[in-house]
Amino acid sequence: ANPSSAHSEGRAARAGMERARADIAATLGWRPDIRFTSGATEAIGLVLARVRTEALFASAAEHAAFRRAARAPEPIPVTREGIVEPERVAEAIAGAERPLVAVQAVNNETGVIQPLDEIAPVVAEAGGLLFADCVQSAGKIPLPDADFISISAHKVGGPPGVGALLVKDLGALAALSGQEKGYRPGTQNLPAIMGFAAAVGAGSGWLSGMAALRARLEEAIGPYGAEIAGGGAPRMPTIALYRMPGVRSEMQLVEFDLAGIAVSVGSACSSGSMKPSPVLSAMGWSEDEAREVIRVSFGRGTGEADVDAFAEAWRALASKHGLEPRGKEAGGEMRAASGQAA
Ligand code: PLP
Repeated sequence: ANPSSAHSEGRAARAGMERARADIAATLGWRPDIRFTSGATEAIGLVLARVRTEALFASAAEHAAFRRAARAPEPIPVTREGIVEPERVAEAIAGAERPLVAVQAVNNETGVIQPLDEIAPVVAEAGGLLFADCVQSAGKIPLPDADFISISAHKVGGPPGVGALLVKDLGALAALSGQEKGYRPGTQNLPAIMGFAAAVGAGSGWLSGMAALRARLEEAIGPYGAEIAGGGAPRMPTIALYRMPGVRSEMQLVEFDLAGIAVSVGSACSSGSMKPSPVLSAMGWSEDEAREVIRVSFGRGTGEADVDAFAEAWRALASKHGLEPRGKEAGGEMRAASGQAA
């Protein structure tokens, strides 16, 4: 039933929806408001359209969903490792009146984790509002102390087409009318919301072995030319971006696909465009370098056999393109894209 209906079935549906909302809040450790949306893209658009401020600042590594929706934000640079330094945030927003500052928690291409615990006090001190896109981190690492947080069910194993905006103080956003306290008019997608709550409730125990699996993979491919984007930064073990020098992304994608391995070229959300990633450009990569990367995801079902098959396919392709073993096997050092070992 429609959770807005007044009959008993409607009231039962509403009770289920509110239980889902409370369960998601409790599991993620978010006390104040959660407004359901059709996904993170809508949550991002909602903040940008309704926030009561004109001064918009955003890290140079935000997701395309944010880049498309934002009205020419003032950029905050990232380091070569893809990190947003708190000092750069302070410099950028100095003197701005109640700025809205967008810094994602984890980058969807590189897995780089932003130091939001250090950035949040900088924004608060300047009287600003912090918007953290936590699509890649929610349910995996604690949520930051932000004013607005976007999350998406399909990144925690839930159904696509549902997400939420987490809001500390609803007064910071203009309301319209209708469902979700006037922040998201339209009938709520109750089956998807229930799936979202179930997925969040299932937890992230599966993540515990992921860092070791990723290390196993990177040790195997390092000697065969692999460069790791943000390799010297703290990274979530669920996503990684690797460059195979001299081999175009599309070629790699086809070769891995033939080997039965699904990788993507940069962000899956914009892979149709095959344009070099603005995130890598912001990290100082050249266009040519950025056209030689693939994005690899590690998930609930990933195991050692998958990692070893990937490493085998990498070695075969790298050897075909003349990338001879180096690093441990050749007495040299494995390279991270930053020049530091990962
Ligand atoms: N933000 C990040 C970091 C993402 O990775 C994605 C998509 O995966 C989005 C936003 C968009 O989320 P949705 O597909 O729920 O609109």
